[in-house]
Order: sequence, then structure tokens, then C-alpha cells
Amino acid sequence: LIQLYMPLNFMGMIYREIKQSLIDIDDMFRILERNPEIEDRPGAPDLAVKAGEVRFEDVHFAYTPARPILKGVSFTVPAGHTVAIVGPSGAGKSTISRLLFRFYEPQSGRILIDGQDMAGVAQASLRAALGMVPQDTVLFNDTIGYNIRYGRWDASEDEVREAARLAQIDGFIEALPEGYDTPVGERGLKLSGGEKQRVAIARTILKGPPILVLDEATSALDSFTEREIQDALERVSRGRTTLVIAHRLSTIVSADEIIVLDRGRIVERGTHEALLASDGTYAAMWDRQRRAAEARETLHETEAAE
Ligand code: ADP
Ligand code: MG
Repeated sequence: LIQLYMPLNFMGMIYREIKQSLIDIDDMFRILERNPEIEDRPGAPDLAVKAGEVRFEDVHFAYTPARPILKGVSFTVPAGHTVAIVGPSGAGKSTISRLLFRFYEPQSGRILIDGQDMAGVAQASLRAALGMVPQDTVLFNDTIGYNIRYGRWDASEDEVREAARLAQIDGFIEALPEGYDTPVGERGLKLSGGEKQRVAIARTILKGPPILVLDEATSALDSFTEREIQDALERVSRGRTTLVIAHRLSTIVSADEIIVLDRGRIVERGTHEALLASDGTYAAMWDRQRRAAEARETLHETEAAE
């Protein structure tokens, strides 16, 4: 009973910490840094990251047996390359990132990093190799400096500042009355979605993981902020193995491979140009987003003229 009670009590504590924000399961696990249901095998060795290749081999996954979510997903992100996953909401995109972090395990198939099956390595070593910039970042109720330093506790002041600069949040922080010592979160300064995301980017830059997962924001950031964040994300993903879950297709035009996921299956894959040429699902999505962007432009022009 005590064993059961303790984690629940702990969860309750965390829950109270974060209650007012609508929290995503990803963030919950990020704060806990693990899913208590998934345990390391006795004597599991550490992951040895060499180049940082990520490989999904015929991965099947369901949260509940009655409802399969991933139905045989295979792809490879070569070391240092970028693969983007696109597709309708509910297709299973974020599930792929949760499996990569081993918050859940596949029912069948394998996920390999540099040829090592993730199921057999120590989770701490896996999490150390991975960085995630989530859709919606939950900040700790502490200073903004602490929230960046969380990426790597032994970072120097200069390194924290440099990470903030690369994430383009340094100007914002320096303009605060208490600078890096300004309290943020529920009990401090409330940051906008774009500011929180840049804190998450700075944190990830500081951590410097060989493998990166970016879950792009769906929220309507204004286009200036969006471009700034895009630049910062490009900077952090340079030279790292990167898996991007993309909502705005304009940001993934240069990905080495784009995977279109629909109801748990890969229905198309290729470069941006190849997918446009094949005139399928991706081309239709691209066309729809382009038209929507054009409609917005026209609206702005009309407003400006009035
Ligand atoms: P996407 O990121 O493509 O929008 P997700 O991977 O988040 O989709 O979710 C895929 C499906 O799995 C959805 O139908 C979603 O409702 C379901 N799902 C997500 N998380 C859970 C969970 N923790 N338990 C049960 N079902 C889930
Ligand atoms: Mg998602």
C-alpha cells in the first residue's frame, strides 16, 4: 500500500504545482523524467551515442489494446539529418516522439539509436542523449535563469547567456528588472507562448543533445515571433539528428525526408519537391496552407488600405 500511496502522493504534489496550466502528458513525463511503469532491465547498459542515427523498425503501438495507434511505422533519421513528420491531428505524430523518449514502449518492432535497441538501455542515458522542444513548455516556479540552466546544471553564467542569445530571448531577459533572477511561472512573471518556447530552446541549446525532437507550436504566434523562433530552432538543430513534428509546412521545406502519417500509417514519404510532384496528400496539404497564407495576406492588405 505504501508503494502505491507514495507515487500518488508525489503526483498529487506535482499536480498542485501545475494545476492552473492545462498540462500535456509529455510535459508531465518531462517533469518526472520518466514513466514509472517503464523500468530498466537489471544491469541495463548505458546507450553509447556515436553518430546519433535514429531508426524505427516496423513499430506497432497502442495505448489501449482495443485501439492501435501506430500500425507498422518504419523510418530512419540518418545522423545529423532532419526528418519531418506531418499529418492530420490524431495521426500518431506525438506518439512517435513519446516512444522515442521511451515514455511508452512499442508492442512490437524496435526503436534503435546507433544500432542499439532502446528497450535494452538505461533510461537515464537515453534521456541524456535526447532533447525536446515541446509544443507548450511548462516553466518551473523559479527564476528564468534556473529555467534555462535546467538544460545543464553545471553551465557557467556565460554559457547560460550565450544559450539565451542563440534562442533570441536574451534581450527580453536583460530588459526585466531582475534580469536572469526574475521569478517566472505560476507565482512569477507570466511569459507568452513564444517567450516560453524560446526559454525551452535556450534550455535545449545548453543541454546540447545529439538528438533533437521539435514539436512545432500550433498556436498562432504572430509572424515576427514565428520567424524568430524558426531561426532559433534552425540554429539548435544544425548538425544534430532532428525529428520535427511540423504543423506549418513552410518550415520543413528543406527537411531531408518528409513523412506523411495518417491514422498510424506512413502514407507518403519523400523530399518536399518529390512530394509536390507526386501530387498526393502532402501536395494537397501544401496547397491548402498556401491558400490560407495568401488569404491572410490579402486580408492584411485590405485592412492596411482602409
Ligand atoms: P498527433 O500528435 O498526430 O495529433 P497523437 O500521437 O497525440 O496524435 O495521438 C494519436 C492518438 O492517440 C489520438 O487518437 C489520441 O487521442 C490518442 N492518444 C494520445 N495519447 C493518449 C493516451 N495517453 N492514452 C490514450 N490515447 C491516447
Ligand atoms: Mg501532437
